[in-house]
Amino acid sequence: MTGRDIPKTAAFQQSLRDYRVPYLPYGSTLGSAELEAGAQVIGSGETLSGGAWRTRFEEGFRAYAGTAHAMSVTSGTVALEFAIHLLDLQPGDEVVVTPQTYQATVQPLLRYPEVRVRFCDVEADTLNLGPESLVTLVNDRTRAIIVVHYGGLPADMDAIMDLAGERGILVIEDSAHALGSSYHGRRPGSLADIGCFSFHSSKNITTLGEGGMLTFHNDDWADRVDRLRGNEADAVFVPRDHRFGTSRAPLPGALYPGLAYTHDCVALLRHGTNATLSEPAAAVGVAQLRSLPAFVAARQAIAGRLREVLSGYPDLVGLPAVPDGVEPSHHLFTFFVREPERLSRDRLIHELDDRGVQVPIRYFPLHLTPEWRSRGHRYGECPTAERLWFEEQMNLPCHPGLTDKQVDLLCELLADSLRASLC
Ligand SMILES: *Cc1c(COP(=O)(O)O)cnc(C)c1O
Repeated sequence: MTGRDIPKTAAFQQSLRDYRVPYLPYGSTLGSAELEAGAQVIGSGETLSGGAWRTRFEEGFRAYAGTAHAMSVTSGTVALEFAIHLLDLQPGDEVVVTPQTYQATVQPLLRYPEVRVRFCDVEADTLNLGPESLVTLVNDRTRAIIVVHYGGLPADMDAIMDLAGERGILVIEDSAHALGSSYHGRRPGSLADIGCFSFHSSKNITTLGEGGMLTFHNDDWADRVDRLRGNEADAVFVPRDHRFGTSRAPLPGALYPGLAYTHDCVALLRHGTNATLSEPAAAVGVAQLRSLPAFVAARQAIAGRLREVLSGYPDLVGLPAVPDGVEPSHHLFTFFVREPERLSRDRLIHELDDRGVQVPIRYFPLHLTPEWRSRGHRYGECPTAERLWFEEQMNLPCHPGLTDKQVDLLCELLADSLRASLC
């Protein structure tokens, strides 16, 4: 059912030998169902772009997320670009964002130099934005808040939506980690105004390496995204009152579809682009979505094993706080080293790496990257996010493609590494 039933090449075996427990066993969740889906598309003689598979994938996703619309695009980055475009930002507007995320969450805002971006500090026990610090940054110029459900742990959305709703602020949920998470019976991506998802090969499901989705309820936005992703302009169109001012019969519409004959453009908002998810990718997405509950269950089981090992060090190690009614997808397994004098985080990373466990730390606080510093952001702006990044936060491999043996090994090596890192 998964990648385990596809024969592996020598190169694949070699790549796994680089680390005994790799962070991302690429391709390991793709199996015969995905191969079959791809073969079906290729053998169908149907279009390979923008066809029935895309519709099926989007219908499945819409039902899963519980939104009126689910619109696929070519990446999570493009989903965020479109979502930020839909905010209709004006000079002087402000957008509040988290610094603890992948750069694609906030990068589109660099294209709006007249919009003020405010990085909001994160909660020390979740790495998410929370209402206490958000409320200190919003004002009557705030147009939007962009939250990330860090590692798949849903943010405190009820409180955030109360705060935003009162002030007419739009909220984007970057749900790239949160596919498969649940929040009081609802799905991330349906909890705010717009949800953005990624199907990059590192994410909870993949559409053959790259892909993304937007989710929302707004019909007008669906129209706009459909135009944008299909290389048509997003604009304010009004019906024309005559056709070219002549009495000639219109040219065949089939050759020149769209609004060319029927509408005038009164305000151009943005050029379109091609962000069409290919049919093979969409067909693989349908198969992956079916396996999502099994993938999430596997992640939760690994997380449970890792928590057990860490529970031997209750004074030295902290785990993210998971509120009642919330189920994380465990896109990332995260913990915090709370007593750096007694347990060295950096030593722990090296001990794990020496033993063959791959440990990348996610994410460098974005307000400290050169592009955001060049816009006036600086060290000290988000003290909690900075302290966690430089001293406390840790991630460990937690992926459904890890074999049972690798998970056993991971637990063993984690226990060894913890012992070796005590000061
Ligand atoms: C992966 C990711 C993205 C970008 O998605 P791509 O599909 O890689 O473009 C955006 N935000 C977060 C939080 C991500 O993890």
